[in-house]
Amino acid sequence: MNTTPGLVCAHHHLYSTLARGMPAPPHTPTKFLEILEQIWWRLDLALDPEIIRWSAMLGALEALENGTTAVIDHHESPQSIEGSLSIIADACAEVGVRVNCAYGVTDRHGSEGAARGLAENDRYLSEGGKGMVGVHAAFTCSDETLQAAADLALRHQVGVHIHVGEGTDDHDAAQRLAPLATDQWMIIHGVHLEDDHGLAGTVVHNPRSNMNNSVGYARPARFTNPIALGTDGIGADMVEEFRLAFACHRQDDVTATPETSWQWLAAGWDLFPEAIDDRVTWNYDPMDAWHLAYTPGVRPVEVEIGDEIVWQNGESTRVDAAEIRARAAEQANRLHKKLADL
Ligand SMILES: [Zn+2]
Repeated sequence: MNTTPGLVCAHHHLYSTLARGMPAPPHTPTKFLEILEQIWWRLDLALDPEIIRWSAMLGALEALENGTTAVIDHHESPQSIEGSLSIIADACAEVGVRVNCAYGVTDRHGSEGAARGLAENDRYLSEGGKGMVGVHAAFTCSDETLQAAADLALRHQVGVHIHVGEGTDDHDAAQRLAPLATDQWMIIHGVHLEDDHGLAGTVVHNPRSNMNNSVGYARPARFTNPIALGTDGIGADMVEEFRLAFACHRQDDVTATPETSWQWLAAGWDLFPEAIDDRVTWNYDPMDAWHLAYTPGVRPVEVEIGDEIVWQNGESTRVDAAEIRARAAEQANRLHKKLADL
């Protein structure tokens, strides 16, 4: 077998696609909260509609290039909230990638900022956009904001997409969220959750990001929740993320097998069932967990989404990839200049 359904990235931040090569932060972060403060919370403040659009275009193109046909995105752009989810959804539609959007609500910019974030989720979902209600994390939200997000999600019959226990700053998240969470929620990271944390929902494991932020290994095999895999914004190469998930699991437990990590990848199809009917033909046969765990360089030859071939022989059939890369590079320059001036 050298075909699979379309792969699913269960947690992405398409807005971070242009972060690579950004100027170094004013101070070298020494812990996770400082990484947020010095890097991501400065980056998200600098986002504007053009940067959001070309980040999403390039991120979607790179998803296709890796056989990922469905992306569950979590977005934050505090200076450019209104309409941001539609910019991302439109960019993905242009490239041909399926997307589920959420705006990450937070009280970091006051309760007015949180209200605008909730309104953006509500607007997008009310207009028929495919998505969830996003929340940044419990530790940057009041109980009122968490309750409002949970209520909004119930009203739209979707889940809440929220970072939980990524760093130690979020230590009381489970206690605060347990009364609100449903099976439709997506619990991102869970590194610092107790084994029996009591939260309903799917836990999304992002091994590369957790290593990059030095927050520790989530040991997702200990949870009874369904487990899925995401990249947390570092591309959308899900075969690579699977391979890394296995390596981390094996480092922690010598009896671990790649079949478990493959099940985590496959759980993406429960979150984004449309991708099951997509078809990716790979340059490797067989696409089997034990083979892939030890085989680098496995690439898609052809990607079919719905009934349309959107990727063939290393090229997009719908968009001009060179043009997207050039426009994205222009916007990356703008973004990096803005960051240097902040
Ligand atoms: Zn994230």
